[in-house]
Amino acid sequence: MVWKEIIILLFGLLSTTAMAAQDIADTKIKKYRKIGNLKIDTSFQAAYLQDFMVPFSEFKDLQNCRIKIKNKKLKTTMAARPNFFSVLLGKKNRRYVIVVNDDLKFNGVKLQDVPSEARIGLFAHELMHIRDYESRKITGIVERGYQYLSHNGKIKVEHYTDSLTIAAGFGQNLYHWASYVLHDSDACEDYKAFKAEVYMKPVTILNQMEQTF
Ligand SMILES: [Zn+2]
Repeated sequence: MVWKEIIILLFGLLSTTAMAAQDIADTKIKKYRKIGNLKIDTSFQAAYLQDFMVPFSEFKDLQNCRIKIKNKKLKTTMAARPNFFSVLLGKKNRRYVIVVNDDLKFNGVKLQDVPSEARIGLFAHELMHIRDYESRKITGIVERGYQYLSHNGKIKVEHYTDSLTIAAGFGQNLYHWASYVLHDSDACEDYKAFKAEVYMKPVTILNQMEQTF
């Protein structure tokens, strides 16, 4: 293992320990329902499960993954990440968490306001993060965490994830999502500017769809 890999591995361990501790604390007070390998917070189940199942039912490879969907205060609408301790235990034991922002003061895009067709695009995007993690070994996963520390790294990862979403057949929904965020949502202007920079713009999504299909 080269020094760079050792450093990013150590960094990953330190930065995710706090998240894992939070996961354990959350499990004690929340109720979840299991559907196959999915463990779903009951509030998500009631409001969004039908939309989530549209892309999820298409992604057979992800149905074997252990994924937990839970609520948390975030700086974005949703996020998907591996549970780092599970990553240390090897690929067979790997678990993933999809977190949904439940911060009522959040001035970005709230999931409850998003139209169904756009929401399906966002869910497909989050699931593509998991497909990307699944294709990676431990050092590759830590590398992703490292990339998220820089603005350019974020742009690279999010554009790649958007292109996976298009390749998986959810370009139209992703277009609705990107378009909703920038043109129809109540998000503040700073948030929209950030989104326009880090993620594919609606026109880029349409162009890539034309090239892909
Ligand atoms: Zn993303």
